[in-house]
Amino acid sequence: MSTTLKLSARHALCVWALLFLGAFGVHAQQPGEQLCGRCKTSGKVPFEVDSDLSVEHEHGPDWAVLYCSYAIESDNMGLDWSVCPRCKTPSVHDAAQLEWDALETEKQAWLTERKRVEKLVDLDDIVYIETTHFGLTWNIPKVKADRKTYRMHDAAHLFAQRLEDFYTDLRVITGLSHEDQMVDKHYLFAFEKGQQAVAVGPAYAGLSHTGTVKRSGGEDQDSVIVTWRNKSESPTDDDFHRSIVHNMVHQITATHRNTNWFPIGELGLIPPWLNDDYGWLDAGIAHWFERRIEGNSETYCFREQEANRRWGSADWRRNVWKGVSSENWPSFAHTISKPTQSLTPRDHQYAWSWVDFLMWRNAGGFGEAMKLAKLEKPTREILPAVFKVSMLAFEEEWAAWVSTQYAPSNKNPEIDPVRLYGEPAEGEDDTRR
Ligand SMILES: [Zn+2]
Ligand SMILES: [Zn+2]
Ligand SMILES: [Zn+2]
Repeated sequence: MSTTLKLSARHALCVWALLFLGAFGVHAQQPGEQLCGRCKTSGKVPFEVDSDLSVEHEHGPDWAVLYCSYAIESDNMGLDWSVCPRCKTPSVHDAAQLEWDALETEKQAWLTERKRVEKLVDLDDIVYIETTHFGLTWNIPKVKADRKTYRMHDAAHLFAQRLEDFYTDLRVITGLSHEDQMVDKHYLFAFEKGQQAVAVGPAYAGLSHTGTVKRSGGEDQDSVIVTWRNKSESPTDDDFHRSIVHNMVHQITATHRNTNWFPIGELGLIPPWLNDDYGWLDAGIAHWFERRIEGNSETYCFREQEANRRWGSADWRRNVWKGVSSENWPSFAHTISKPTQSLTPRDHQYAWSWVDFLMWRNAGGFGEAMKLAKLEKPTREILPAVFKVSMLAFEEEWAAWVSTQYAPSNKNPEIDPVRLYGEPAEGEDDTRR
């Protein structure tokens, strides 16, 4: 039987099953029961949901909003149906009531678990949101974005949606798949004040620090970032967004690990961060995705804070291009042996540029490159295997590329992260949505 025939046979079966259920199943009264006009004998009547809950329906190709404390605590838990009051058909009423009660139990259990954090911080106006890949504990009263002000609930949804969009973008670009993530849910705790982050850090990220703390250890640990709205580090809310994306890149690349990659008894890179053995890749990828947002890159994570001094101007392309023009850049062979925390501010910019060059050669190979890193393959093997360039030829080819692509006179470079991030040109398929 051909695939088409098989499919249509299965389709016919489904249609038949639906007809059967429609006629004799869930929407019908029991023998002897009356019909109910109010709910059309379904047990459910429409419930008008408050307009500020429209954000609960935001979604993408592989994500949706699963829970939101604001919705759960609103009338009727934000559901667009309620149980038919004074229903004439007891059996359908009872079935609807069971469904409503089960939803309530599930949502309240989730909320109780999220609210445990309130034992550590004296706050009662936290918004909790869970989407398919991110959990947000949010207490930043308002943010400015796209020339609008978002109050706490909308701001939390905005940042959740941005994280999901960024993750889709990262997966599409690098070829990294959900199946290869040992952890595919990342928790962000974003507080208004530093002392709140300090109070929550130890319990949720296993660390206490006045800045941002992160944990992404083994399979038995949640991936967590605890941060706060530090205006001296991130003056604008867009800067804050970029720093969250930068940190999330570290979380996602750290948890990119599938036990099936390893022969029995072999563990590969432990813990599966990239920072100790592939610092240039760890920092370079994070900067690349951060810069994709607006062409800026000001984030250094706590591991990199020694590097929180400036090198050159804010224009990284220009800085690197100048270095290449004067044949003065950090040795690739030497720099790739550094852990992330040993990279200087100048190294960070070159690490970003090396990744930028490799993105141009084969962006879709980064998932594979990270897999090889987790298998502890040296960079000199990863380069030819994934990017078709040898260790010996790398610097020369990269420098030649930089001198044309980053030249201030080149107004139309072949790879422009910011341009890529924008909407696709007319007629182009947007595969990111
Ligand atoms: Zn909500
Ligand atoms: Zn009814
Ligand atoms: Zn970083």
